[in-house]
Amino acid sequence: MAARLTCGKLVIATHNAGKLKEISALLAPHGVDCVSAGELGLPEPDETGTTFVENALIKARAAAGASGLPALADDSGLSVAALGGRPGVYTADWAERQWFEGDPGRDWFMAMGKVEGMLQALGRDADRACWFSCVLAIAWPDGESVTYEGRVDGTFTWPPRGDKGFGYDPVFLPEGMDSTFAEIDPDQKHRVSHRADAFAKLVAGQFAG
Ligand code: IMP
Repeated sequence: MAARLTCGKLVIATHNAGKLKEISALLAPHGVDCVSAGELGLPEPDETGTTFVENALIKARAAAGASGLPALADDSGLSVAALGGRPGVYTADWAERQWFEGDPGRDWFMAMGKVEGMLQALGRDADRACWFSCVLAIAWPDGESVTYEGRVDGTFTWPPRGDKGFGYDPVFLPEGMDSTFAEIDPDQKHRVSHRADAFAKLVAGQFAG
């Protein structure tokens, strides 16, 4: 049986305050007290994995090892079937403006345009099926770990539509909907997203029964 979280502290392996808030709220009802890797001053490891699972485990294991506490990390991204799953784990990297001196910043329009350019190069009938993935990994200081994978399927649409989301939301048309993830309310997105799917699996695996 997979290792289980008990009541007590859990390190969230993120330096992003927004993610910490969202994850803390989801875990609070289960008696878990979240603290971020940023608050503990833990270093951010390089994401050298080639899969979402590998990268989530790298981050969770680094935080568990450095803090002596169980740690939770996530890794997510967009995969396009006709592009062999790209950008995948490189989803954020495709938005880096590498030619820009100083803080590179991220240009999501450029990243979405790169995907669109590659699909157009495949021809008018290119398969636009794509999916968002989210992997949640929990690692314990004794070396145990467990992962949960969430996914939402959709179509890559062009041009981008909507201003409510972030990242690649404006080009993601979820299966069965006419609106992109950036056109619907965040509450609606959070009910069907890859992150919601992964969290439901984590809650079922860690806290049910
Ligand atoms: P990370 O898991 O925080 O490294 O995120 C990877 C990248 O995937 C993000 O920077 C976003 O561009 C993209 N991404 C992940 N989830 C979503 C989502 O729900 N909507 C839009 N883009 C997303």
